[in-house]
Amino acid sequence: MSVENGKVVIHAVHERDAEEFWKKLGLKETETCFVCGEGVTAKTFGAVAPFKGKVVVCCESPHCFFHFKLKMKEKEKEVE
Ligand SMILES: [Zn+2]
Repeated sequence: MSVENGKVVIHAVHERDAEEFWKKLGLKETETCFVCGEGVTAKTFGAVAPFKGKVVVCCESPHCFFHFKLKMKEKEKEVE
């Protein structure tokens, strides 16, 4: 890995940050996608959000991300 290769360096930093973020949230190494139930890790998650007192995750699938956002909107409505 070359220092001049900015892309590689940025990718590595990003990956480490994602794992730290994941641990800070108290998530297990593998969580299940809130929408499809697939296993999701710090390397493969698409989104993370608080839901009914816990943290829920979404996999990388655009389909799941779409439904995940809808669920989060529904939750906001419930609060109002
Ligand atoms: Zn999913």
